[in-house]
Amino acid sequence: MEEETESRVAERTREMVFKDFIQQFSLINNDKDLFPKKCRTCGKKYESLYHYIYDTEAKAQSMEDAGEIMGKSFTMIYRNCSCGNTLVVSVTDEILPSIKDFWKAVRRLADKSNMPVKEIVTSFIDEWERQIRNHFNCVQRRTRF
Ligand SMILES: [Zn+2]
Repeated sequence: MEEETESRVAERTREMVFKDFIQQFSLINNDKDLFPKKCRTCGKKYESLYHYIYDTEAKAQSMEDAGEIMGKSFTMIYRNCSCGNTLVVSVTDEILPSIKDFWKAVRRLADKSNMPVKEIVTSFIDEWERQIRNHFNCVQRRTRF
């Protein structure tokens, strides 16, 4: 039964890491260069990070570490506008200082669970999306984006 316990611990660790970083990722929302974001193809405007996550569709590869460019770490988030255009949000460590820790944590989780990094990232995005959807489904009647 040792294996079962170990996988439960791994799952709990993953939940905690996800919860922590979902909270930290909300910092992106304060970046004036990123939001509001307008789709160049159809003109639709995404007022906030939450609106963007809520109202776009995840792509197969929805987030990647684009490596270090000129000493900056770049993380790209890809999601599709309802018109089909891909809207890229690029997050540097200036916007989110803990982004490097995020990738470290993701790689560690991938190692521990023998899962590809891509799969961990996908489940992170799924969880993030789920929380934002839950939040908006609760407040939608009272507020607008
Ligand atoms: Zn569009």
